[in-house]
Amino acid sequence: MTSAALDPYPSPEQREREADERAAKLVAAGFACERVEYGQSVEGRPLRAIALRAPGVGDSAPKVLVCANIHGPEFIGNRIAHGLLAAALAPTAPAPLTALLARAQLWIAPCLNPDGYARTWARAGRGALPELRHNARGVDLNRNWPLPAGARRLPLPGAGSDRPGDATYRGAAPLSEPETASLDALLAAQGFHASANLHSFMGTLFPARVCDRPSFVAYRQLCRALRANQAKTRYLRLASRLFDTFTGEQEDHQHHTRGCWSVCVESFPLLASFRQHLRAPALFWRFNPHDPRPWVDNDLPGVAAFLLASLDRPAPR
Ligand SMILES: [Zn+2]
Repeated sequence: MTSAALDPYPSPEQREREADERAAKLVAAGFACERVEYGQSVEGRPLRAIALRAPGVGDSAPKVLVCANIHGPEFIGNRIAHGLLAAALAPTAPAPLTALLARAQLWIAPCLNPDGYARTWARAGRGALPELRHNARGVDLNRNWPLPAGARRLPLPGAGSDRPGDATYRGAAPLSEPETASLDALLAAQGFHASANLHSFMGTLFPARVCDRPSFVAYRQLCRALRANQAKTRYLRLASRLFDTFTGEQEDHQHHTRGCWSVCVESFPLLASFRQHLRAPALFWRFNPHDPRPWVDNDLPGVAAFLLASLDRPAPR
């Protein structure tokens, strides 16, 4: 398949080159900027994060994290994550990002599932959802996280399946996959204060599931900061203390086990996706806008605002 099929999204190689180039520019601009290889995927691709510290920010400043592309076809999340690197260099960065960079170390893990990305690219974005979404062993990496201690999984749609081949197949055991196990080791080692995890498509915010009222209220306020800073389209927060279940998703593990304020941002709203194509010519175009820029511009200040607002709170325990 030609590379034009997913234009303007970058090939796996272009994506890595772009990150290298931006990291080099950040160093030239006086940032402390390091590319960290924190593990390898099933197929041996490097798992990479970029650690960024603005001039004048000490190495004891709190660390915040942006993750993307844990699901193979969700390239728009990767664009937003890379957009943060570009915006950090821009003379007119969005105000919440400038404020965030003045107070925190920003870590960006722009592609948590490089095998899924490469497979999606090789297939020109065509295939059934499990074929594009999973890692190379057929696991939905965002159902492969451990449940919080004492939590149960209710048999609700999307809560994770034990049947290989299902879109939400959770794998043999929590953290059975190198992509999740390596990221969890990074989470444990770095002690991130907050994390925004980018997905598509929905136009919704899913904070970590919490049952205690203070944490629930905290997430309402953090999500309000996110929404208030979205440029045009504000996403709906979906959260309930009662009508929800633990599913083995990243945010719940980050909050309950790693003490990290954590939100899932589903970019590219349902309505925009169906306005783009009532019947998408390839599954890829259900998940990704033909022009990523308006959605990068829309979501990037909101993501920065969520992380910034978290700095005014103690870490969840
Ligand atoms: Zn996703």
